[in-house]
Amino acid sequence: MTFHKLPLLFTILLLASCNGDKPKATDTNPPATPVKTITSVTAPGFNADSAYAFIAKQVSFGPRIPGTVAQTNCANWLTAKLKSYTPHVIVQDVKVEIYNGKLVPCKNIIASFNPENSKRILLCAHWDTRPWSDQDSLKKKSAFDGADDGGSGVGVLLEIARLLSTQQAGVGIDIALFDVEDYGPPEWEAHSGEEQPIQYCLGTQHWAENPHVENYRAYFGILLDMVGAKNATFPQEGISLQYAPSVVKNVWATAHTLGYGNYFLYEKVGAITDDHAFINSLNGTPCIDIINMDKTSPNGFARHWHTQRDNMSVIDTNTLKAVGQTLLQVIFNEAPGA
Ligand SMILES: [Zn+2]
Repeated sequence: MTFHKLPLLFTILLLASCNGDKPKATDTNPPATPVKTITSVTAPGFNADSAYAFIAKQVSFGPRIPGTVAQTNCANWLTAKLKSYTPHVIVQDVKVEIYNGKLVPCKNIIASFNPENSKRILLCAHWDTRPWSDQDSLKKKSAFDGADDGGSGVGVLLEIARLLSTQQAGVGIDIALFDVEDYGPPEWEAHSGEEQPIQYCLGTQHWAENPHVENYRAYFGILLDMVGAKNATFPQEGISLQYAPSVVKNVWATAHTLGYGNYFLYEKVGAITDDHAFINSLNGTPCIDIINMDKTSPNGFARHWHTQRDNMSVIDTNTLKAVGQTLLQVIFNEAPGA
């Protein structure tokens, strides 16, 4: 594993999604008019109960920590599940070097729909679980379920895959489940003040340099990270706005038109180093991040983030529906003539 220098602006803006720096909420900017008229296209109905069940199934394997049996078992299940929806599934099974120099297994799982279509949309989430709840006030060194952090984005994408198996979107869709996003150093080993190489998003960094299809670049990408909690709020994130402002505009306008404006806020937060950062900087696909932030919490993230409370009790089907239905509408709007 090698690390990469990011563009200067990017580096200045870095606030690691998983290292606890607090992004700052700023102004609001509702657009005067929606970007697209969405009434002409009918997307399939997103089944939030199905997405919920997909999250519960992942959690049932135990924390999906790289190098554990749970990782292997869950990877096998994810692969088989996606293969039941499309024959075009690729698993990148490699080893990556984590913060302490150890090598861990990394399994990126990519499912393609309409692989012959050159206009492609990348939908992605990480499926691994951070090994420790180091933001927990008591049990910092224990593993946790990761129902929201990891599980929720994957649950939404599996439900979209299920729907695409019966109704194609009219564009090519790639669903990428990235591994080893969250194995950055625990709080007690992080060295603040020193410039650290990027120790998160290792599966995505591997994919961005070795995409599943040679010279792969999508029309745009959407990353989901912590999209399942009750009353989640998704502000517009800095790297998304820097690299893919029109995608942000499109997704937020679509969500508002569908009635999900209470989740998709016209507020901004600073840059967050999440998987989309590397999809933008290393692969060149303009990619946004839909991520639950809480401006009232001390670190800016939802209060269950990297704690024991990140379990099925925080998952809410209303939030899953808001995210999943918005994504479906966005991708079905991209069909020719839509
Ligand atoms: Zn995390």
